[in-house]
Amino acid sequence: MQLSLPISPSKLHTIFPFHHPIISPSKPPLTSHFHSPHQTHLTAVNSLKSAGYLSSIGRAIDEEEEYRKARAAVTRKGVDLEGYSIEGLSIGGHETCIIIPELKCAFDIGRCPSRAIQQNFVFITHGHLDHIGGLPMYVASRGLYNLKPPTIFVPPSIKDDVEKLFDIHRSLGNVELNVDLVALDVGETYELRNDIVVRPFKTHHVVPSQGYIIYSVRKKLKKQYLHLKGKQIEKLKKSGVEITDIILSPEVAFTGDTTSEYMLNPRNADALRAKILITEATFLDEACSIDHAQQHGHTHLFEIIEHAQWIRNKAVLLTHFSSRYHIEDIRQAVLKLQSKVSAKVVPLTEGFKSMYTYQHLVKSREAFVPPKPKEFDKATAIGISFEAVKGMKVSLNIGSGLLRLSVNGATP
Ligand SMILES: [Zn+2]
Ligand SMILES: [Zn+2]
Repeated sequence: MQLSLPISPSKLHTIFPFHHPIISPSKPPLTSHFHSPHQTHLTAVNSLKSAGYLSSIGRAIDEEEEYRKARAAVTRKGVDLEGYSIEGLSIGGHETCIIIPELKCAFDIGRCPSRAIQQNFVFITHGHLDHIGGLPMYVASRGLYNLKPPTIFVPPSIKDDVEKLFDIHRSLGNVELNVDLVALDVGETYELRNDIVVRPFKTHHVVPSQGYIIYSVRKKLKKQYLHLKGKQIEKLKKSGVEITDIILSPEVAFTGDTTSEYMLNPRNADALRAKILITEATFLDEACSIDHAQQHGHTHLFEIIEHAQWIRNKAVLLTHFSSRYHIEDIRQAVLKLQSKVSAKVVPLTEGFKSMYTYQHLVKSREAFVPPKPKEFDKATAIGISFEAVKGMKVSLNIGSGLLRLSVNGATP
């Protein structure tokens, strides 16, 4: 019998891979699954730590934990742009819901993140599931919390289908689902508050679609009355004369899924001069061509760079990146656009994986090579022998880092 017990302590990376679920580099885990390797990892390592295994493992746990906390803090924060705090999730094909609490609105509903439930208005750009899937849940959740029925805006061409969707859920769940469903067409204007209105604009996707622009409304004294004094203005006003012009200022424009064609339409000029443009850049690099993006009704970052001269916004929030990208790919790509425009460019990266963590896991798995059994070197071995029972000589020898047990000179 030969017992091969490595005496030198195993290194951290040779231990970890056994405790991770298999992650294939060709098929990255979904976001929701992404946390589970981490949890498994911590549990496994904690058991080693409690066994007093290695202090270096403890340090590694602390570092990982710090990194995880830092990442969570960054992604939870949302983005502050031009006086608006923008939150939400947008991962191409998975879910898109952009929330602006100051306007009490959400653009698309995605899978209905919990923060969306408090918003009174939802603007739906098109009928794809990653943008509309959570709609019944949104309405139902507002009912559950006794919030007033929401107003949901949809392109007129999908209104009947959305109504049917609610009817199906009313029938399935025997629930009310109170909602004000508004078909708002390109060119129409709807007053959300006395100082805010919304207007849809034309976008280009593989199904009927439209974007939305939110305008602030303010009144300005007409030019011809500028020279008048206070009392004269008051008198005119009382006589029923309209003394003010209404000024609309585009605050936020949201495109939803679209090719870059919307940027070239002069009627969409307000989208490109709103304080904030929230648009999509599903594809970021050469691995997916501009043709591919256009065929699938999406925008390639290279096209935004090409049309950068038309961007007059103060800030651009890029969304809807393909889930194939890591946070680092996105940041790198955003720098390319930033160098072409005066607008502040920010990516919405909540829910995306970091290359650091992912590659770290994959690399540690790849780096792991099971150690070959060492040869026992008799020449340098040292050990002890004793008679266990009468006529049975037991020897314990250590050589080449291996412990060998032999009985009467033979290794059983
Ligand atoms: Zn989409
Ligand atoms: Zn779509």
